[in-house]
Amino acid sequence: MNIYGIKREDLEKYFIDIGEKKFKALQVFEWLYNHKVDSFYKMTNIKKELQERLDKDFSFNMISIQKKQEDKLVKKYLFKLFDGNFVEAVLMQHDYGLSVCVSSQVGCNMGCAFCESGRLKKVRNLGAYEMVEQILLIEDDIKKRISSVVIMGIGEPLDNYDNVLDFIKIINDPKGIAIGARHITLSTCGIVPKIKELMNESLQINLAISLHAPNEELRSKIMPVNKAYKLELLIDTISEYIAKTNRRVTIEYVMLDNVNDSDKEAMELAKLLKGMNVYVNLIPYNETNHIEFKRSNKEKIMNFYDVLKKQGINVTIRKEFGGKIDAACGQLRSKEVKA
Ligand code: SAH
Repeated sequence: MNIYGIKREDLEKYFIDIGEKKFKALQVFEWLYNHKVDSFYKMTNIKKELQERLDKDFSFNMISIQKKQEDKLVKKYLFKLFDGNFVEAVLMQHDYGLSVCVSSQVGCNMGCAFCESGRLKKVRNLGAYEMVEQILLIEDDIKKRISSVVIMGIGEPLDNYDNVLDFIKIINDPKGIAIGARHITLSTCGIVPKIKELMNESLQINLAISLHAPNEELRSKIMPVNKAYKLELLIDTISEYIAKTNRRVTIEYVMLDNVNDSDKEAMELAKLLKGMNVYVNLIPYNETNHIEFKRSNKEKIMNFYDVLKKQGINVTIRKEFGGKIDAACGQLRSKEVKA
């Protein structure tokens, strides 16, 4: 077991099981996440025999930074995992602080037609520690604290539910990396049963749904997941989620030229979301090797925005980061794997 994948409550159980006091877990967490030590032998308030025991029971191995690419407000990291697989994360500098977009799987099986990450099928889930370490390595690289995390990198987080939840709990722990739940966003393509599970976890995190189309036909065409969990069911589930958690949900809508960006689709989307406590985030498409998809131009995006606004829908246009440095959605890994 890697120590960075252990929740504090589980570490407490471990200590109780081996006949130690449970507050040892707190001490270990402070060493790991405040003092950032990389060995149990540096935890000076833990006695020698216990250090040895911990060293036998847990590993410290880190993923490693394979490559970095940088532009003004963005830095992209390619990480190498123990088994030679790669994932990526993106650091973004906002006026409100630093955010990191983390990956949750090696590859992805959701097969969205426009997405680069999905070209490379899922190889495996990431362990919680591999997600925690993406953040730790970035904080160490920039010598600054991260203030928010979005789980929007490679992979479908709800297809790796248990590990993603452990990850959230570890980074949210006030004695861990201490990122407030309201500063953590999980983005999903719409795995309905897992959204239902998530609403019962009483977490205060933000949920973002990749909707991208306002009707069944179009959504099924560009997002195969819609064949399993229909738009109608997804919308009902989002309503249920909002009622249960009292949290506003983000609707992501990637703007694809001549695919989903006309007045007709804007009106359909407005009708679909009317009265729901959601806001729509329009995402300028990052063009990839999927030559059949182009980004909608500025006028079209503005027009779509205006139609939604007029219909009383809360809407914003996503600020762009990293298009120039392949920071967009799985492109760095995709290049590395091909090379
Ligand atoms: N699987 C999750 C999270 C990863 S994808 C999900 O589907 O939400 C994160 C977001 O980036 C999704 O909204 C996805 O549709 C979008 N996306 C994928 N490729 C993109 C691209 N080339 N340009 C802009 N957004 C893209």
